[in-house]
Amino acid sequence: MKSENNREAYDAVIIGAGIGGLVCGCYLARAGMKVLIAEQHLKPGGYCTSFKRKDFTFDAAADCFGAYRKDGITRKVFEDLGIDKKLNIIRFEPPSIIITPDYKIPFWNDLEKTIKEFQTAFPQEGSNIRDFFYFLSHSDSVSVSKIRNWTFKNLLDSYFANDRLKAVLSFPLLAMGGLPPSLMSAFMGAKFFSEFFIDGGYYPIGGMQVLSNTLAERFKEFGGELRLSSLVRKIRVSNSCVEGVVIENDGFVPSQCVVSNCDARQTFLKFLGQEKIERAFLRELRNMIPSISNFIVYLGINKQFKPPEPPGSAIFFSQHYDLDRAYRSAQKTDINGYDGYTFRISHDKSTIYAIIPAAFKNRIFWHKNKPKFLESLTEKIERYSIPNLSEHIVYKEAATPFTLYRYTLNYKGASYGWASTPSQLAVPGLRRPPSIQGLYLTGHWTTLGVGISGVIYVSHDIAKLILRTKKTDYKIP
Ligand SMILES: Cc1cc2nc3c(=O)[nH]c(=O)nc-3n(C[C@H](O)[C@H](O)[C@H](O)COP(=O)(O)OP(=O)(O)OC[C@H]3O[C@@H](n4cnc5c(N)ncnc54)[C@H](O)[C@@H]3O)c2cc1C
Repeated sequence: MKSENNREAYDAVIIGAGIGGLVCGCYLARAGMKVLIAEQHLKPGGYCTSFKRKDFTFDAAADCFGAYRKDGITRKVFEDLGIDKKLNIIRFEPPSIIITPDYKIPFWNDLEKTIKEFQTAFPQEGSNIRDFFYFLSHSDSVSVSKIRNWTFKNLLDSYFANDRLKAVLSFPLLAMGGLPPSLMSAFMGAKFFSEFFIDGGYYPIGGMQVLSNTLAERFKEFGGELRLSSLVRKIRVSNSCVEGVVIENDGFVPSQCVVSNCDARQTFLKFLGQEKIERAFLRELRNMIPSISNFIVYLGINKQFKPPEPPGSAIFFSQHYDLDRAYRSAQKTDINGYDGYTFRISHDKSTIYAIIPAAFKNRIFWHKNKPKFLESLTEKIERYSIPNLSEHIVYKEAATPFTLYRYTLNYKGASYGWASTPSQLAVPGLRRPPSIQGLYLTGHWTTLGVGISGVIYVSHDIAKLILRTKKTDYKIP
């Protein structure tokens, strides 16, 4: 189909081939729509990519996913799109282990076993621990609505008296979402637990890139077109209706439906321009806070290495229980003050991936500080977790918050979209701005979700909404 100016027109253009853009694209293309995904990077996946150095394959950012239980959203969508059979998905056992100077508590794939681990560590909180985990794994919409405005601290205080237990349950959330319990939304904290700790640790053999590539291939099988190395500069709007997008070096691509998988600030402030946005919404958008970014270390390991922790398990380590101190250090990007880290020895024992929360700084800061951070984090892991680590390292590299920004254009290299605070839980207009017809957003900037599973959830939802609006015959289950 050609438009008036003789350019190929699409039923939908999706900006960005992150998991959000790919899942939404698959559903729209499968429904018979003519869909283009324009991705600025040279490979699909966004934060869900891998890279090769020497003989090693490293996951760049996300290194596992959750919600793959029988009725979990990730499984539902993978089965529905038929990609479950194309992937070899394993589950680590245990998916995560929390380690502090006094405790070592695994999260097992069997919830009862996990509850017992916590009860053994904190016998005086026995029945509260059971109630807490029951709430996380069985909560219905009524009980969830009660905690909508709570912080995670409110939730913990409503179950437990023991401060050590509260800290042990909170620091993995600080490690991931970058917030202490006094700032993190109870709803989001509960989601992190249910979708990441209780039902987490799933991994596609071959690396996270295999997942993104499989989704991209499926999208093409459904008739979609994926253009890589295609940076979108503008969304063109006339009379409050979307007309298409402008791609660098490619020009105008007409479409009456545009789905942005990029961050909301880029979408509204750069693609559209502030003059097209309602004042109140613009003010709200400018005041919203992104989630924290990360500093990541990638280590290639020799064959003599004997792992001291189970390969595949994410190890959440903290040397102390002072969450406010850890939060301040992460905010200040102070490597010496932050005495915790998360690491994973890959299931084939060939690599180690280690990560700490770190705030965004510019290229000059990281040019100067990256080697110091890399050495310091490696040295801490050697001191507290993996004796003689340095003897086994044959390759090392690091990614900074600036690297994360550079590869994905996520605002300030934010790892999980918006910060998971109670006030940012549900901001109207972020998925479907009411003032612009034909514009939709998907991905982790439209939802407070837990990484990949949250993004899959919202993308499935947005695709349903678009198909309903277009009144196609095709329905998504
Ligand atoms: C270090 C780190 C570790 C993480 N670990 C996990 C984990 O283990 N498990 C988990 O579930 N989640 C994890 N997450 C979070 C998870 O990876 C993300 O929430 C999720 O992948 C986001 O998907 P998305 O599709 O919304 O966005 P993105 O992955 O950011 O994709 C957006 C895409 O849009 C493209 N784009 C941007 N601007 C333009 C433009 N102008 N034109 C064209 N294309 C553009 C980008 O290149 C990118 O491909 C982690 C994140 C980080 C950073």
